[in-house]
Amino acid sequence: MPSTVTAPDRHFVPEVIDLSDFSQIEPLYQKLLDRSLQSTGELERWLADFSELSAAVDEYGSRRYIDKSCHTDDPEIEKRFMQFVEEVEPKIKPLYFALQKRFLSAPAVSLLDEKRYGILIRKWRADVELFRPENIPLETEAVKINNEYDKLNGAMMINFEGKERTMQQMARYAEQTDRGLRQRAWEATANRRLKDRHVIDGIFDQLLNLRAKISRNASLDNYRSFVWKAYKRFDYTPEQCLQFADAIAATCVPLVKKLDAERQEDLGLPSLRPWDTTVDPKNRPPLEPFTEGATTEFIDKTKAIFDRLSPELASDFETLRTNGNLDLESRKGKQPGGYQSSLEESRQPFIFMNAAGLQRDVETLLHEGGHAFHYLAARGEPLVFLRSAPMEFCEVASMSMELLGCEHFDLFYKPAEAARARRVMIEGIIRFFPWMATIDSFQHWLYEHPNHAQSQRTTEWLRLTDRFGGNVDWTGLGPTRESSWQRQLHLFHAPFYYIEYGIAQLGALQLWLKAKEDPRRALSNYRAALKLGGTKPLPDLFAAAGIRFDFSERTLRPLMSALGEELANLPA
Ligand SMILES: [Zn+2]
Repeated sequence: MPSTVTAPDRHFVPEVIDLSDFSQIEPLYQKLLDRSLQSTGELERWLADFSELSAAVDEYGSRRYIDKSCHTDDPEIEKRFMQFVEEVEPKIKPLYFALQKRFLSAPAVSLLDEKRYGILIRKWRADVELFRPENIPLETEAVKINNEYDKLNGAMMINFEGKERTMQQMARYAEQTDRGLRQRAWEATANRRLKDRHVIDGIFDQLLNLRAKISRNASLDNYRSFVWKAYKRFDYTPEQCLQFADAIAATCVPLVKKLDAERQEDLGLPSLRPWDTTVDPKNRPPLEPFTEGATTEFIDKTKAIFDRLSPELASDFETLRTNGNLDLESRKGKQPGGYQSSLEESRQPFIFMNAAGLQRDVETLLHEGGHAFHYLAARGEPLVFLRSAPMEFCEVASMSMELLGCEHFDLFYKPAEAARARRVMIEGIIRFFPWMATIDSFQHWLYEHPNHAQSQRTTEWLRLTDRFGGNVDWTGLGPTRESSWQRQLHLFHAPFYYIEYGIAQLGALQLWLKAKEDPRRALSNYRAALKLGGTKPLPDLFAAAGIRFDFSERTLRPLMSALGEELANLPA
């Protein structure tokens, strides 16, 4: 891909420009800063031009990232990605901020249509109010500290069964049917992690200190208040999150305990130990939805699932293939994981993943497909700033596709295997809620008790794992249990960023139940809500999808009973 992109639809950004060269971009930002913003007409033209510039720069950055994740072994591609991250992005940030400020201080802002622009003004006002130049070095410091944490994790190797293995490789043993082998692998992993326990505790203390300072600088009482504003959580409160956790304890934890009891009985064990939680309870080999490398088959069958849901979704999905925007198969030199990326100027979604012929791959493509449908539905929005929804709703778009799609696993499997795949997915959804509540409640406590000692932290963690845990027997494994929070990357890298998945799953489950009653209507609501992009606040997006934005027991309880029933009706 040449760095000089010629786009057909530019009015403000020159047709020919090298977006890797800051000296070519800067004058455009400067022009925007200098322009008169007296009338609403001037302001709207200005927003359109700022949006066009942002989309062009954003797409350039996305393409560098996509290239890098597809070719981690190409130093030239790596160099171009790093050049953008180190030399362009940091210089754009202050200009972007200056433009947000310029916009908000323009007299004509108060004359803009509140319905159309209110949501944008609210978002940018939060950014401007939160910004403190003295926090920039502190945020850089946090990135450095987190880098230490990443390095410790990356360096964890285990000599097991005569070979040096990574933690990811060790995780595979959890599915082995030989219980002794599972236990040995689990213990080796746990003991390796314990070696770094105290260092990681120290790293975490440093992060907590920095975050306390950052919130003080922004004149806020604690870091939770800072995050609420930074993440633009305008439509729900910390109290509602804690209420969500209560609802999970009341309705979901009993279901998890029941599943654990069934698992223990299926495995014929006197007690369920931590190394017994992932293996197939009937000791069957792993599911094989398609042969590794058979990407065309994988795409065709996934498309057939979408086609059963709605022909429009299938044709949306097909455009990704015809535009070359699917890179799915695992191969040497590819970064791990999966994601959907939006190319904001050409207004195309792109899906990246590492398919290896596992059931998880089927779920991932359905999920990322949902994100792509969201983007395609909303791409008509002219302003890039209003095109994407808040995270809590973006994940409704993707998680709904997993749930609706799982009804059609027969396209990949014989009936008995399709039922097994659905069971695995649904159990996963049920089990996610208590873990989410544990992590989220822990964070509320951490930042509400900024001066806690490490021992108090441990006590609180144990209290929460008791409250939200299932029937797993941890006898003799105290130190591992006490420090099990250290594995959750979000606590380090993206504090408080976790409940979004719980909120979204609540939405996806509601949509799934609605689709059982009236699939056509549910699908048309889904598409209508996706089409709104980021032009409406969360409660309106949920309402457009025909579902409730509510995390209380009233919403959760019927969903948990439906999931329990679904499992009871599936053959084991
Ligand atoms: Zn997602």
